[in-house]
Amino acid sequence: MKTSVYPGSFDPVTNGHIDVIERALKIFDNVIVTVGDNPEKKPLFTIQERIDMLKESTKHLKNIEIDSFSGLLLNYVKSKNSKIIIRGLRAVSDFEFEFQRALLNRVVDKEVETIFIMTKEDYVYLNSSIIKEMTKFKGKVNGLVPKIVEEKLREKFNKT
Ligand code: ADP
Repeated sequence: MKTSVYPGSFDPVTNGHIDVIERALKIFDNVIVTVGDNPEKKPLFTIQERIDMLKESTKHLKNIEIDSFSGLLLNYVKSKNSKIIIRGLRAVSDFEFEFQRALLNRVVDKEVETIFIMTKEDYVYLNSSIIKEMTKFKGKVNGLVPKIVEEKLREKFNKT
């Protein structure tokens, strides 16, 4: 059984993330999508809110688990009996950071492989920060994020 782990901030999940998850499910028996607890990133949504949005946006998919983690990703991956980390790739801008992280993880644990999945061309420019910025200034983000995310973003920014 090949279990893969897809870590990220998912603050909030976008259609780019969903596209990567769907592609990963074609390759691996199951995918654990896990929300990283990185307070340095000053997230807009709490871990629980991000988990809830991920659950709602992936309910059409089988063989998927939504979880969260803190601390070293490699330890989390091992605790899930997995040896595969999935990362999404967009434009070249992701490359250097992802390359460094993947190689460092390999130095620390050579058993764990990082697999990169390229997103659909429609989502190459998409990231969570752009979505937050657009919603804040009342821009339209339909087609870029799941419906539930659109609603939650609207709620969040209407309160502030
Ligand atoms: P992180 O804080 O770990 O970068 P993100 O939630 O921003 O968390 O991204 C999680 C993973 O998904 C990363 O590998 C990132 O490159 C990838 N990703 C984010 N947006 C997209 C997208 N539009 N298309 C493909 N991959 C993406």
